[in-house]
Amino acid sequence: MSNGLIVSISGPSGVGKGTVIGKLREMLPDSRSSISVTSRAPRGTEQDGVEYYFRSREEFERLIAEGEIIEYDEYVGNYYGTPLTPLLRMSRGGQNVLLDLTVAGSLALKEKFDETVTIFLLPPSMEELRNRLEGRGTETGEVIDKRMAQAQGEIADAPKFDYVVTNRQVEQAAEEIAAIMLAEACRYKRRSEAVTTLLEE
Ligand code: 5GP
Repeated sequence: MSNGLIVSISGPSGVGKGTVIGKLREMLPDSRSSISVTSRAPRGTEQDGVEYYFRSREEFERLIAEGEIIEYDEYVGNYYGTPLTPLLRMSRGGQNVLLDLTVAGSLALKEKFDETVTIFLLPPSMEELRNRLEGRGTETGEVIDKRMAQAQGEIADAPKFDYVVTNRQVEQAAEEIAAIMLAEACRYKRRSEAVTTLLEE
């Protein structure tokens, strides 16, 4: 069995990464989300082991020291990192793994695992991004201005990604990512075993 794909999706805050990943999970039943470890406190109905593994900063640093965190980043004062063991287990078990990471996180994961497929999710326009951030109703005007400034810097890193998808509409963005995943799964390097088997018949 060939390994599942490791697909890391990044993009500015408010672009809709979580919603697009949710749609992809519905469309692709053999896909799983990587559950990150974070030092931030749970929000609302979030549960440990569901949205995140919630750990103290000290525990997080211990996991880094033990080599259990394959990449991590600090975002708004908290650590976020990808646990190595479940990622390898899912991928080696043939499941496609979807990750929602900061821009630096996706690029770091690609450095560690060359086979990672990195996708940058763009907003249709900066105006639409601001509308989406305001529509959430959870951030103050000052925080929104900060997120918008940060978004400019993040979008400047889009050329470092393998693919760019614009999130005009969730279904369409998810379909484009599913198409990228299908094409990636058909790459020779992932199908070489099938060729060898045929030649040996
Ligand atoms: P939130 O606090 O809103 O759940 O997530 C904040 C940011 O952390 C999001 O942009 C998300 O992409 C990023 N993030 C979540 N988990 C990880 C992770 O394991 N590694 C990295 N580098 N970023 C993460």
